[in-house]
Amino acid sequence: MPASGQPPLVDPFGRSIRYLRVSVTDRCDFRCVYCMAEEMTFLPKAEVLSLEELERLCGAFIQTGVRKLRLTGGEPLVRRGIMDLIRRLGRHLDTGSLDELTLTTNGSQLAKYAAELYAAGVRRVNVSLDTLDPDRFQAITRWGKLAPVLDGIKAAKEAGLSVKINCVALRGVNDGEVHDLVAWCGREGHDLTFIEVMPLGDMDSGDAGGTNQGGTVRADQYWPLSMLRAELAKRWTLTDLPISTGGPARYARVAETGGRVGFITPMTHNFCESCNRVRLTCTGMLYMCLGQDDAADLRAVMRGAPGDDDTLLAAIKEAIARKPKGHDFIIDRRQKAPAVSRHMSVTGG
Ligand code: SAM
Ligand code: SF4
Repeated sequence: MPASGQPPLVDPFGRSIRYLRVSVTDRCDFRCVYCMAEEMTFLPKAEVLSLEELERLCGAFIQTGVRKLRLTGGEPLVRRGIMDLIRRLGRHLDTGSLDELTLTTNGSQLAKYAAELYAAGVRRVNVSLDTLDPDRFQAITRWGKLAPVLDGIKAAKEAGLSVKINCVALRGVNDGEVHDLVAWCGREGHDLTFIEVMPLGDMDSGDAGGTNQGGTVRADQYWPLSMLRAELAKRWTLTDLPISTGGPARYARVAETGGRVGFITPMTHNFCESCNRVRLTCTGMLYMCLGQDDAADLRAVMRGAPGDDDTLLAAIKEAIARKPKGHDFIIDRRQKAPAVSRHMSVTGG
């Protein structure tokens, strides 16, 4: 039972909603090729939830039984005042009403914030790192530099945070490096999760709503993880681990390093049946499924009835009751438009 005494929210397919991902900003200091266009038009400030609104919404979800919060973006650590929000959310860990507060970051600001994150109650971070080669890193992120990210990962480890590396599998880009990544993560003690590139948003237009026609870039980059895993098996002994969380990753133990490698395969493996999560954008839109367009406008509810918690809780419950059974992503060269028009930086991955 959540600390509020209320039973958890259960969707129409019997899934208890325990996990909220919150995008705290659509902005980022990188421009990863699979995530954003180089020229992006970001949201006007008035449309983005204030830190107070984000705190209030997270508090409401915790009241409905959410036990895990993950902050993401855009890049969460570039939002001004983000540490204040994280500290305030961390208090729910102290009261026992939240089990975990974590974030997904590109690592560029981690050296600066690692110790403060730990002090606020964060114990794990996911850091996105697709390559260990400085030139390739710059080519993928366009604006990023590898060295500060590696420094950030080191600082996180020194601060006591456990680090999971997220790596997007990109055919013809980092496919020659997967063994090095497994070896490096094994040495450093980081779990490593490979992610299939997903058809979200349009890389040719900088409109975060993404209305242009695109998609061929991702068809070229798409490397099924079944193939990646077959490549890994040439050098590493992988033993499947039992499915533990409601998350989309499937894990295997690497005998030679003792580390874990995860595979997130939205394209080839449908993980929807165990999905326990919902996603909130930085404008307060609640997406019940990463792969569907249906959303509830919680900003309108909050701004329309300031301070009225009952109305907000009722809107959240009504939205969860609409959580769909699953998604249907397709990457297909013949299909020119992405399956979902939002960029990943809008729903936060
Ligand atoms: N900026 C942070 C970061 O990069 O970790 C958090 C936000 S980012 C949108 C979250 C995750 O989504 C990253 O691991 C990123 O690699 C992944 N991602 C972005 N676009 C993607 C796409 N089209 N397909 C698969 N993963 C994607
Ligand atoms: Fe920024 Fe993360 Fe998107 Fe890269 S994947 S552009 S770091 S939000």
